Amino acid sequence: MHIAVVIYDRCQFKKCNYECRTYCPPVRMGIDTVVITEKGYPRIIEELCEGCGICVHKCPFEAIKIVGLPEELQEDLVHQYGENGFRLYRLPAIQKDKVIGLLGPNGVGKTTTLNILSGALIPNLGNYERELTWDEVIEHFSGSSLADYFSKIRDGELRTALKPQYVDKIPRVFKGNVKELLKKVDEEGRLEEISTLLGLENSLNRDVDKLSGGELQSVAIAATLLKNADVYFFDEPSSYLDIAQRLNIARIIKELARKSIVFVVEHDLAIMDFLADVIHILYGSEGAYGIVSQIRATRNAINAYLEGYLREENIRFREWKIEFTEHPPKKRVDLPTLISWPYLEKSYENFRLEVHPGEIKIGEVIGVVGPNATGKTTFVKLLAGVLKPDKGEIEENVKVSYKPQYIKPEFEGTVEELLMSVLKERMSSGFFKAEVMHPLNIRHIMHKEVQDLSGGEMQRLAIAIALGLEADLYLIDEPSAYLDSNQRMIAAKVIRRVMENTGKSALVVDHDVYFIDIVADNIMVFGGEPSLHGVGRGPYDMREGMNLFLRDVGITFRRDKDTRRPRINNPGSYTDREQKSRGEYYYA
Ligand code: ADP
Ligand code: ADP
Ligand code: MG
Repeated sequence: MHIAVVIYDRCQFKKCNYECRTYCPPVRMGIDTVVITEKGYPRIIEELCEGCGICVHKCPFEAIKIVGLPEELQEDLVHQYGENGFRLYRLPAIQKDKVIGLLGPNGVGKTTTLNILSGALIPNLGNYERELTWDEVIEHFSGSSLADYFSKIRDGELRTALKPQYVDKIPRVFKGNVKELLKKVDEEGRLEEISTLLGLENSLNRDVDKLSGGELQSVAIAATLLKNADVYFFDEPSSYLDIAQRLNIARIIKELARKSIVFVVEHDLAIMDFLADVIHILYGSEGAYGIVSQIRATRNAINAYLEGYLREENIRFREWKIEFTEHPPKKRVDLPTLISWPYLEKSYENFRLEVHPGEIKIGEVIGVVGPNATGKTTFVKLLAGVLKPDKGEIEENVKVSYKPQYIKPEFEGTVEELLMSVLKERMSSGFFKAEVMHPLNIRHIMHKEVQDLSGGEMQRLAIAIALGLEADLYLIDEPSAYLDSNQRMIAAKVIRRVMENTGKSALVVDHDVYFIDIVADNIMVFGGEPSLHGVGRGPYDMREGMNLFLRDVGITFRRDKDTRRPRINNPGSYTDREQKSRGEYYYA
């Protein structure tokens, strides 16, 4: 069978000549395979479509996907958003006492899956023209554990709580302070306990619309935990949180699974690895379809995900592997210095940053790690010359290109117009096209309005622009935010390759350990008391820096023997204790 999908946010029928219709062979024979709807979008009648794929190639905006799928999948169709809409096949298994992870790229139905399992969305089983009742759904799944599960959802015997993906939207739907928000959902008088658990004690009286991303995330997680539910869903709980906070919520979620059913969608693979007991990989084609694969033990699932191959199903879902090569540390002494700084200080009203002397060598990529609100962004701004230090002076003879942490899309116009206006002739460079634009998949968003980009699309664009500008030092602040694990690994490689090929240097701030591991030659470590006093040290080589950093966080990493990826040791396990006693927190 083949399915025909129109990706509506790419379709720009006002700017094309309906090539999808004009070039369609059946249409040319007088068969109405592609018709134009009242709104102007093309509608592809699947029963009449021959699956030749000519429309796919002719569409100037790559808004059509025609995909061949195995016939037997038809029976497993769970939900379809409209005639040419996204389709989700199969659902995860329901297991108690385990954290069940959902792992997959953006746009293959993870959020849809959570919405269905939480009872927020009644799956239509492909009957997109009407709303089904739970009874019909239960009938469809009869004989499987899902029938039993959905009956309990229908009857209110299983109560659910969902932490939504986009925490940025909370201030738009709730006005008031943190305490008021949490009070509304506090069913068992645990507000104090839970807010302490998430480090929110000092934020309770703050207005929700004044919170940082990390604080919003913590509030959303707290609100979910306060609900007295039987099934909990966490859609991307780590976004905006620093590593210590990620571990903290991972521990809380693991604990929760001892008495409830817990599902988690997560793109930070180190955290997913630590958090989940079992994982369903979701694969498919972005915006077109997604398939929930069979359940796997966490280590196998993540290794299969990196490999791009599901052995049991014999399905290759990615052409290439994500690889962790332990790049030999660059001998820093041999490299000339690009920029150096003496002891620096910078104070705001309530915050003081000190940075110990250091230097960045030509051609190296420095990772920057440390808790939220310890001055990483402030340091980046000092190097960029956006801010001046109160104490110490930085020689300002290097040219800097800076990707800020929070990207505000102010530009009015399309991505292409923005790129042409800021990057100009760089756009035609073969190297830039092949090593930056192509891997970051900018082509697909070229015709979109900058204002309409999703978080992940905006991030990819901002990285491309930062790397496209002429500079000696590239400062990339939190590039992994909003990207899926795939895109993170790609972005990390893109940054490395650009530096390797141009001999320029980069400073990359990020909380995703896999990202830092792939991108960085050496690292700087920030610490201190968040929001009060920050201390920046380094750069160090990976081993020394990670030891310093992880000792503070209290965790150790080992390397997976097959993939070489870093894995968090179970706290208190033999390996954990043994590595701690030797002071080896990280295998670089
Ligand atoms: P993921 O969480 O894996 O990124 P989602 O479940 O959010 O994926 O969405 C999968 C696809 O389903 C999206 O790419 C989008 O095209 C489509 N989709 C999601 N929600 C809707 C909706 N309400 N109406 C139509 N299409 C939708
Ligand atoms: P990080 O990047 O490590 O999260 P930042 O450098 O963004 O940390 O912020 C460090 C601290 O400085 C935070 O407590 C933040 O609230 C405060 N801060 C940042 N910018 C300003 C400013 N312009 N005025 C006052 N305080 C600020
Ligand atoms: Mg999602």
